[in-house]
Amino acid sequence: MSFHRSLSCPSCGVAVEKVTAHTRSLQCPHCDNWVYLGNNGWVASGGFEHALDAPSILYVGRSGSLNNRDFVVAGRIRLGYGSGNWDEWWLEFEDGDHQWLEEDDGSYQLHTSVEQQASAATLRGCSVGTFVDIEGQNFFVTEKNEAQVEGAQGALPMTIMPGEAVLCVEVVGGGKEYSLEISADDVSMTDSIPIDADSFRWK
Ligand SMILES: [Zn+2]
Repeated sequence: MSFHRSLSCPSCGVAVEKVTAHTRSLQCPHCDNWVYLGNNGWVASGGFEHALDAPSILYVGRSGSLNNRDFVVAGRIRLGYGSGNWDEWWLEFEDGDHQWLEEDDGSYQLHTSVEQQASAATLRGCSVGTFVDIEGQNFFVTEKNEAQVEGAQGALPMTIMPGEAVLCVEVVGGGKEYSLEISADDVSMTDSIPIDADSFRWK
């Protein structure tokens, strides 16, 4: 994985090694505080209130391979809504690629970022059962839920804060399903394919 550098934790001052060029927030391995890259450098945001329970097969730092591509589990976000929750794992592949692996109640979806630039305002205004316009293409909205960041571990490619609200929208277009996650003005749009847990090779 490229561009490893180190940063001085803004909370405890100890050097955090192996920060990649993609990292925008991470849990300091020394003081456990969640820190993120702000406009003026790295800032501490305190910690997450709830400890994350032990997952079934994934954990931050675990190495494995999927379809003969080696990866490391670099980070995790726990998102919750009402009484339910799910996890999103940030996988760093050895070839420099990154993908999100969603784990929900024992089923897995591998998410790949797509090029479309969707507007946060448009997505906040859309309704389930109607079409939403994303770069001139119509997508049918099948789900829209407000979730909350309940916890995070490791290193992540975006600046998220404890308790932050995330709007999750599912759409269908051109025969494919897409997931959109909107936090503040940031929109991440991915397509997803189901992955069988047996497809992973763990080291
Ligand atoms: Zn620290």
